[in-house]
Amino acid sequence: MSLHELTDEQRAIRDLARRFADEVVAPQAPEWDREHRFPRELFGRLGELGLMGVCVPAEHGGAGADYLAYVLVLEELSRADAGVGVTVAVHTGAGTLPILAHGSREQAERLVSPLARGDELAAFALTEAEAGSDAAALRTAVREGRVTGAKQWITNGSHADVVVVFARDEDDRIGAHIVRRGAPGFAAVREEDKLGLNSSSTADLAFEATPAEPLGEPGAGMRIALSTLDGGRIGIAAQATGIAQAALDLASGYARERRAFGRPIGGFQAIQHRLADMQTEIEAARALTWRAARLKAAGRPHTVEGAQAKLFASAVARRQTGEAIQVLGGYGYTKEFPAERYYRDAKVTEIYEGTSEIQRLVIARALLGEAAGDGL
Ligand SMILES: Cc1cc2nc3c(=O)[nH]c(=O)nc-3n(C[C@H](O)[C@H](O)[C@H](O)COP(=O)(O)OP(=O)(O)OC[C@H]3O[C@@H](n4cnc5c(N)ncnc54)[C@H](O)[C@@H]3O)c2cc1C
Repeated sequence: MSLHELTDEQRAIRDLARRFADEVVAPQAPEWDREHRFPRELFGRLGELGLMGVCVPAEHGGAGADYLAYVLVLEELSRADAGVGVTVAVHTGAGTLPILAHGSREQAERLVSPLARGDELAAFALTEAEAGSDAAALRTAVREGRVTGAKQWITNGSHADVVVVFARDEDDRIGAHIVRRGAPGFAAVREEDKLGLNSSSTADLAFEATPAEPLGEPGAGMRIALSTLDGGRIGIAAQATGIAQAALDLASGYARERRAFGRPIGGFQAIQHRLADMQTEIEAARALTWRAARLKAAGRPHTVEGAQAKLFASAVARRQTGEAIQVLGGYGYTKEFPAERYYRDAKVTEIYEGTSEIQRLVIARALLGEAAGDGL
């Protein structure tokens, strides 16, 4: 099968997501951005379409499709609203899949179906005020099944029903734990005010002797976190590709309509070259993303390929959303067009689920082996 061929199932799921993104998400995205509104009701509708658990097996309430189908959905949703894209990406890739991969059979049966159906939302709580890239420096503690500490910038934090929380035990081992919304001592204490992604929730979480159930073995926390992020990064690459595609669609449509010096600006070579470079880079980002997704779907190693996809696609999104503003000129700088929203939303793809510097570290370590040391 060629790199660009999709199966009938993948194409059908992408088309379903595309239609929903165009008809339901995109028209409301400017308002959600302006009002910083998290559209909770939307995720129930996405759940009814099977889009909150695309790659979750049908026996656990998901659509039972593969990882590529899932990232196709993320690209389509992010093209319409990158905040919606990250909500679904974290819910599925970082919140639901680690429960399936590392939880007991009983945990998977109890917890996953409501998540895959979109009745409940999931979050992934690793980062702390002094533990970001250096996640293993986390200080949140777990003692006798109770978690105490604070997490920062947690996507879906204010709305999640199930939170995967990483904490350190009395033997200094980091483990993964599950905390449910409403558990005693657990609260979302603050919503972050961000540059973009205004329709997503990014919250600080507090835990005070909060009952938690272990996910996986004691001490397996970093392994669970890192393998979750290996897959999650492919989703962020898809998100970045979707944002960049939205910017290209806008800029190329504008170049056909806007006239200067008696002709469409698309007649100027400077504009043509810009659009040609945008399209080429976006295709390359998509190809890297699909390659990594296919490897993951096949159960093959994908750490480096996922890091490469995210590193490249996020830079494309950052750069090309700026180029789209340039094509629109002054209008690109106003809120009349979504170019400025794409530009604000794109930047974070170079930061979360591992900064671009950390992606380079991952790639270089695999390239150089022991000679790379720990890269620090
Ligand atoms: C909108 C948003 C949503 C988020 N959602 C979540 C979430 O759901 N769950 C969660 O756990 N976290 C989440 N995060 C946190 C995110 O993953 C971290 O911000 C990210 O990992 C970087 O950590 P930091 O911000 O502490 O930066 P730092 O680690 O302090 O890094 C600062 C700078 O130093 C560089 N740097 C650090 N270490 C190295 C090194 N070894 N080599 C070279 N350069 C280095 C970084 O690349 C960066 O440029 C979110 C963040 C944002 C902004």
